[in-house]
Amino acid sequence: MDFVTGNLGWIEVICGPMFSGKSEELIRRLRRAMIARKRVQVFKPVIDDRYSRKQIVSHGDQRMNSEVVAAPSEILARLDWRTQVVGIDEANFLGAELVEIASQLADSGKQVIVGGLDTDYLGRPFAPIPDLLALAESITKTLAICMRCGNPAKHTQRLVESEDLIVVGAAGMYEARCRRCFEPGIPKQELLEFARPRLERDSE
Ligand code: ADP
Ligand code: ZN
Repeated sequence: MDFVTGNLGWIEVICGPMFSGKSEELIRRLRRAMIARKRVQVFKPVIDDRYSRKQIVSHGDQRMNSEVVAAPSEILARLDWRTQVVGIDEANFLGAELVEIASQLADSGKQVIVGGLDTDYLGRPFAPIPDLLALAESITKTLAICMRCGNPAKHTQRLVESEDLIVVGAAGMYEARCRRCFEPGIPKQELLEFARPRLERDSE
């Protein structure tokens, strides 16, 4: 962002499906802020401890130390007032309260960079990203590669059987799919696979 005078805060959102490079892009921006000698704090939700409890980790294994929070209000509680740049990963796990907290941070002069899924496993807008997009100064949509056809992919395809909105998982439980290949819910092929008796599958 250019031509900013004084300590004007703002909100940047990086959104897209799983595997699209949101965490990589967030880490890249936060590294650049550190190179510019900005004071940076990084937060992630406690629910996402897939790879590391204390770090944000990309699927390509880029890492950055972070603080773990159970709720958006905890970001305010843990904030060092000298912090200039606030990074938040996996925002889709933090719920609607994040909208108010991110706005407060930006209003008080912080540069807030948020990464998260913009759609859920059924392809629906995934709170709180849609509201953050409306309030942000800058938005970036990252696309992955469709695992079926190789086209740009905007969907996160769930491969396991569950109707819960949040099922934390990585490769094997989800894959990126394009608009054409995405099947809301669980793909029929995978469902059939689950329906087969375990012994039959194991003996292969
Ligand atoms: P996100 O935070 O959006 O889930 P990450 O930044 O963690 O994404 O991971 C992006 C990296 O994942 C890519 O640079 C690439 O190495 C890897 N990757 C694995 N599967 C795919 C895919 N289907 N499309 C694109 N990148 C993929
Ligand atoms: Zn496709």
